[in-house]
Amino acid sequence: QRGEKPNVALWVRKDNSIYMREIPYPTCAPDACVVHIKATGICGSEIHFWKTGRIGDCKVDHDLVLGHESAGIILEVGSNVTNFKAGDRVSVEPGVACFECKQCISGRYNLCPKVAFSGTPPTHGTMSRYVAHPARFLHKIPETMTYAEGALVEPLSVAAGAVARASPKLGQPVLVCGAGPIGLAAALCARAAGAHPVCITDLDEHRLAQAKSFGFEHTVKVDLKWTREEFGQVIRDKMGEGCHPEIAFECTGAQSSIAGSIYALIDGGTLLQVGCGKPEIELPIMAMSFREVSIVTSFRYKQTWPVVIRLLNDKVFGDATQLITHSFKLEESLEAFQTCVTASERSIKVQILDD
Ligand code: NAD
Ligand code: ZN
Repeated sequence: QRGEKPNVALWVRKDNSIYMREIPYPTCAPDACVVHIKATGICGSEIHFWKTGRIGDCKVDHDLVLGHESAGIILEVGSNVTNFKAGDRVSVEPGVACFECKQCISGRYNLCPKVAFSGTPPTHGTMSRYVAHPARFLHKIPETMTYAEGALVEPLSVAAGAVARASPKLGQPVLVCGAGPIGLAAALCARAAGAHPVCITDLDEHRLAQAKSFGFEHTVKVDLKWTREEFGQVIRDKMGEGCHPEIAFECTGAQSSIAGSIYALIDGGTLLQVGCGKPEIELPIMAMSFREVSIVTSFRYKQTWPVVIRLLNDKVFGDATQLITHSFKLEESLEAFQTCVTASERSIKVQILDD
């Protein structure tokens, strides 16, 4: 056993509770590496598994270790692994696809039906001190990058995946709905791709203040009493004549935000749906048809890690660590989760760190 400290892990139970319990030091399969996890971000989906026991059809039937936004240092490499050595610092790509099926072979491995995704039932996650993970889904991070930044690659990858689906161009006006971690990441990625101006909405002042601190000047505090037409007009007025949004990255999943975005978009624009809300949503389909407004969806990511690591390290997003508002030690994981709930409006990304 190479780990020097106990391998404590953060578990969720189906009765809506979370707890910490020690697990064995992992065995290293031939194609895997054992990683000492140094930083892990908490995602909204984890709060969901905790508080409701499910996300859609995906249920917590058995106690599960959470976590899928991680970075750390390699302790051990499997016998088949040639491209890593102990001491390499890595960011963990959590969706382990089969690389044998039609989707995987065609490159859309985010749609692999056999994907094992860390921290999503039935696959245990990365919120423990030591984790074994297939080497193919580990990505080296430079010496100049912190583990905390390495753990931000996952949420930034969701955004990079969405941006890849919409390909915003130089000077293209963009709307981002929702200033949570995913919305802010989408705004950063769209701006890096050349989109301008970028307008961001939220219901919450604190989150919009975060957007402003990233240099996004056009922010809109949404009033849920607005009709979808009024929503559209407010956004168009905010962005100005000639700058009506051509792409809307919808990162809330809220019915009113989705319908409103369709009215904000210029004729021929694209709604890029990232947010997950109710399983069924009403769309103003005729308003879309008569104006050729398209809807495109985006699920997780593929081939984003190397690009995001490079952009993050070269500060193309500015200081992305501003997304991290709270950090806790691994032993304080329960407190970290509580903070996501009690300080939800003031927190963006809460991370768990280990020495
Ligand atoms: P979050 O809950 O932290 O942020 C959502 C933000 O939207 C909040 O700040 C909230 O105040 C705001 N909001 C809610 N209703 C709104 C409305 N009507 N108008 C304007 N703002 C509103 O969530 P997050 O972690 O940023 O994730 C955003 C969404 O992306 C979630 O629905 C999540 O499930 C989804 N997601 C999708 C993928 C994917 O692969 N497609 C991956 C990760 C997350
Ligand atoms: Zn596959």
